[in-house]
Amino acid sequence: MQTFPVQDVKHYINGQFVEGISGKTFENLSPFNQAINNVAEGYKEDIDQAVAAARAAFDNGPWKTMKVEERLKYMNRIADLIEENAEEISFLESLDTGLPISQTKKQAARGAENFRFYSEMVKSRLIGESYQVDDTFINYTIHKPIGVAGLITPWNAPFMLETWKIAPALATGNTCVLKPAEWSPLTANKLAQIIDQSGLPKGVFNIVHGFGETAGASLVAHPEVQLISFTGETTTGAEIIKNGADTMKRFSMELGGKSPAVIFEDADLEKALDSVVWGIYSFNGERCTANSRLFVHESIIDQFVAELKERVHNIKIGNPMDPDTEIGPLIHRNHFNNVSRYLDIAKDEGAEIVSGAIPSAFKEGNYIAPTLLLNCTNDMTVAQEEIFGPVMAVIPFKTEEEVLRMANDVKYGLAAYVWTNDMKRGHRFAQAVDSGMVWVNSQNVRDLRIPFGGSKYSGVGREGGHYSFEFYTETQVIHVAIGEHHIPKFGDVKQN
Ligand code: NAD
Repeated sequence: MQTFPVQDVKHYINGQFVEGISGKTFENLSPFNQAINNVAEGYKEDIDQAVAAARAAFDNGPWKTMKVEERLKYMNRIADLIEENAEEISFLESLDTGLPISQTKKQAARGAENFRFYSEMVKSRLIGESYQVDDTFINYTIHKPIGVAGLITPWNAPFMLETWKIAPALATGNTCVLKPAEWSPLTANKLAQIIDQSGLPKGVFNIVHGFGETAGASLVAHPEVQLISFTGETTTGAEIIKNGADTMKRFSMELGGKSPAVIFEDADLEKALDSVVWGIYSFNGERCTANSRLFVHESIIDQFVAELKERVHNIKIGNPMDPDTEIGPLIHRNHFNNVSRYLDIAKDEGAEIVSGAIPSAFKEGNYIAPTLLLNCTNDMTVAQEEIFGPVMAVIPFKTEEEVLRMANDVKYGLAAYVWTNDMKRGHRFAQAVDSGMVWVNSQNVRDLRIPFGGSKYSGVGREGGHYSFEFYTETQVIHVAIGEHHIPKFGDVKQN
């Protein structure tokens, strides 16, 4: 396969690739725990510079006042360049994260689609409403960009998630500062190179690399940043909301999940099996919408689990750069240790652990074999907490009422999957389950016009479609007097 050189990574501020002000860098480790490159480590001073550049580009630059069609030419140019660089983006993403190359292949196409989709959407949504109150007044609304958007992203599917925030922020006329995850800086840096090449006006897009507690926290606290769009862990989201409260930020929070898949006895079992296996083990299990709790009707559970075991043993564990690999190593040693700790907890809680075997050639990387936890109950730690690895807890159920209660008995509410051929039950269950998104007899396929997001501890607000448009714009109402009317004044109060 084609490989690409990897350079050290700098911040991208005001149209320049720059070292950090402190001069510090950190080592970017591969999923095999070896150094890939060095990355500029940003602090408050770097964030201050990036926000000042974004602010100046917003206040003085042509970006927000540019004709929408003109702005969208830049967006489409970025999309074209992403497509031209698709192979490199996929390579860098797999190198950095350990995601199988067959699964990162589509990330660039999806990133480009994000830029194109939001360009089109803005064209059709930048339309206000007007209200002819009477012959004296007219009121109308306009949608204005808000200012500097702070974008904070996680390390799973980094390229897709970054473009998913940058595209609507820019298309609506904002400027932005991105703080990518410290474990996955490579594709964020490639995106900065692409944006630079597109000729986007200086300061409209900026990146500061670094850690959450320093660079991320400084972005959240900055008074000139008007909004924070965050994707990451629930505890981090809560911290960010607290830290951004004093400067009255607008927030979008896409957080963790512990999503149920429910298999009723009348389901199409082959499709359900394919779906739940893909839903938990693709992307190394490091996906927010993973079906990490599997509820199976007791009348079919033996057969279903036997088939699951066979599929789990057949999943190909290997080098992420091998096109045949289906599971690669987890992104970082700390994450590997965390997932391993949950496997110990599962054992202590009495679960039966069934896993695939890791080939001896791959003992060095952060590999966790695809794992089933059998004999689980919904109150176990491993059925309640997000593990974020290729680990699925299997729980039997007897009745629809019981499985609905268990599905909802968790703090998260991101996604749910229900498999049944009784469509009345499918709709009934979907409407009763506490989650932002439900798939009936399908999984995770989505259209960009559809909202994405979670309820309970899985998030606040929605992204996608017109929800992103509303998040990144301010709706202003303008009242205009067009006829003669009485203006009240002191000393002129009429008695009724
Ligand atoms: P994380 O919360 O550890 O980090 C996410 C980002 O926040 C990183 O860039 C990090 O540097 C930054 N950060 C950390 N502390 C911060 C602070 N105090 N202030 C500002 N920024 C801070 O999450 P992660 O481990 O990178 O990602 C995995 C999590 O993301 C999982 O919980 C997963 O479910 C969630 N996720 C959710 C969605 C969704 O759409 N709901 C999508 C993908 C991932």
